[in-house]
Amino acid sequence: MKNVADYFGENVFNENVMKARLPKETFKAVKNTMDNGRRLDPAAAAVVANAMKEWAIEKGATHYTHWFQPMTGITAEKHDSFISPSQGGSVIMEFSGKELIQGEPDASSFPSGGLRATFEARGYTAWDPTSYAFIKDGVLCIPTAFCSYGGEALDKKTPLLRSMEAVNRQAMRILKLFGNEDVTSVKTTVGPEQEYFLVDKEDYDRRKDLIYTGRTLFGAMPPKGQELEDHYFGVIKPRVQAFMKELNEELWKLGILAKTEHNEVAPAQHELAPIFATTNIAADHNQLTMEIMQKVAKKHGLVCLLHEKPFDGVNGSGKHNNWSISTNTGVNLLEPGDTPHENAQFLLFLCAVIKAVDEYQDLLRISVASAGNDHRLGANEAPPAVISVFLGEELTEILEAIEKDEPYGGKEKELMKVGVHVLPKFPKDTTDRNRTSPFAFTGNKFEFRMLGSAASVSGPNVVLNTVVAEELKQFADELENKQDFTAVLHDLIQRTIKEHKRIIFNGNGYDDAWIAEAEKRGLSNLRTTPDALSHWLDEKNVALFTSHKVFSEAEMRSRNEILFEAYEKLIKIEARTMTDMAYHDLLPCISKYIRYLNSTNVSAYETEISSQLSDLLGKAFHALKDLEATLGKAVGEDDVIRSAFVCKDEVIPAMNELRKYIDKAETLTAAEYWAIPTYGELLFDVR
Ligand code: ADP
Ligand code: MG
Repeated sequence: MKNVADYFGENVFNENVMKARLPKETFKAVKNTMDNGRRLDPAAAAVVANAMKEWAIEKGATHYTHWFQPMTGITAEKHDSFISPSQGGSVIMEFSGKELIQGEPDASSFPSGGLRATFEARGYTAWDPTSYAFIKDGVLCIPTAFCSYGGEALDKKTPLLRSMEAVNRQAMRILKLFGNEDVTSVKTTVGPEQEYFLVDKEDYDRRKDLIYTGRTLFGAMPPKGQELEDHYFGVIKPRVQAFMKELNEELWKLGILAKTEHNEVAPAQHELAPIFATTNIAADHNQLTMEIMQKVAKKHGLVCLLHEKPFDGVNGSGKHNNWSISTNTGVNLLEPGDTPHENAQFLLFLCAVIKAVDEYQDLLRISVASAGNDHRLGANEAPPAVISVFLGEELTEILEAIEKDEPYGGKEKELMKVGVHVLPKFPKDTTDRNRTSPFAFTGNKFEFRMLGSAASVSGPNVVLNTVVAEELKQFADELENKQDFTAVLHDLIQRTIKEHKRIIFNGNGYDDAWIAEAEKRGLSNLRTTPDALSHWLDEKNVALFTSHKVFSEAEMRSRNEILFEAYEKLIKIEARTMTDMAYHDLLPCISKYIRYLNSTNVSAYETEISSQLSDLLGKAFHALKDLEATLGKAVGEDDVIRSAFVCKDEVIPAMNELRKYIDKAETLTAAEYWAIPTYGELLFDVR
């Protein structure tokens, strides 16, 4: 057995490799680029490119690619080999500085939401030197951002990097006020916990719905679902164990800090959590993790389902986005400190997050909106569509004491004056923390729990970073150049708590009473993706993103178009898959079984079941024709926004209606007549 420490990161062109292979001066220049965003000059880039190529070829690579994250939500790569013709019909292996820094993939087929006219279809990719290059399947992958020739972002990485820059700018202003002279930069950190399902590949191959849409569109509940909760943290089955072992090894080779793995609540559901990393690297790593999960699963005769709701009736999959802010000196700014001074700084950052979440509830909701995630949010298995912040009892009491100028604490009650008094210690132990909260403070970080399992973490972190940057900016504007800093700070924190405490909720988020209470508090409740997306271009949101230079207005409009289109396209595919399966597989099964029952009509059983099935078949056929009609209406809309609303208001209900009759019929039909694997098989076949 090889020692993990020996092969961890072996496929990554990381700092150690660079140190060993680059001339001292070049290494220093690259470090400066990575740490401080300084441009790398072309001469240095040429040296780096050459070292990268030598290293990659030694490791068996023959090609390189600019690896980027277009708006499809998955990663894209176009491979070029290193070969270059040489004298006498031979080749040499080449890779120039220019090829490292910039690429020009023909990108006309990636979604651009109208940003890129077809006559200038070529976007360009630009190296992100803060994320290490790596080798995957014999290809040297260079993480890049993807832009149009006008410089507009066409991907998920560019705005993420810009939003990190926005937090850095504003947080540095705040840190100066608190006298942190040694800090030169601030970065946000993310640890995404990834949920997924594993099903047997043979079962999967016989389900068109899984193949085309990633989720089951039909299927009656088996006798056993997740009610016993015996799967959660249960013993991992040998086949799954073998999968996880290989997955870990592949991730470790790529320098991904895969740390914990366990069974989740639903049968066949699992989770993997890495150790957190700087946000853009965490986003790259999460994309790679999802890709490699799917690849490794195939090798074990399994299929990894990343969809947010592969099965009705059991939990779907999410992705918890653990988020914090750290200084380059290693201080976590959401970690309560020991001195009045550190505490005051912590409280200010905490208040910035609370105010940000309250003022931009809509943006956070939009950042997790997708057709798949609509099945989870508000469905009593995931946080509701209403956003609130969980702080835990102790911290909430402290904030209340500050708000009301009241004494706080056990025996020796003390007045809490920010910047003067030490915060009482509150337990960081998070064992009994609230799992129903969409946005929970967990001791030294926030856990945003509304993300869907399949989506990139970029969008939610772009929003989080930018909204927090905005509040830090407002705070810095108010606090800079003040004579009595401590008094102004105390007032600012007190006022922020007063004005934004409505967003704090420590109770059960799954409770209907909370939804009613949230409405009273004036919190927004955007139930579906089209409802949420309709707020993306609200004036305050455009002002936010443009002022922090995270999105231009044109980029926001393009994203609006892309997100609505992704939603309506997906629902149309689901509806078409349903009609296909109904006509070709499921109605014929029911019909055939009815014929059989009628032909052997020997007892009450045949008569009664045949009659029940005939009734269901008739209703299903009727529902099928309704579905076709509503789908036709959606297809007839040439505006993606109108089409999205037709999908939500008419197509989805018609899909649910059809499914209802067919699932009922499944429960009455003999197993040998049912054309597709059942829920029981899908959920329990992997042993
Ligand atoms: P749980 O399931 O109890 O929420 P996990 O251990 O599964 O906890 O996941 C916690 C995640 O939070 C891990 O990915 C961890 O690395 C991450 N995390 C811890 N500290 C930070 C931080 N400062 N910033 C971002 N993520 C963090
Ligand atoms: Mg976890």
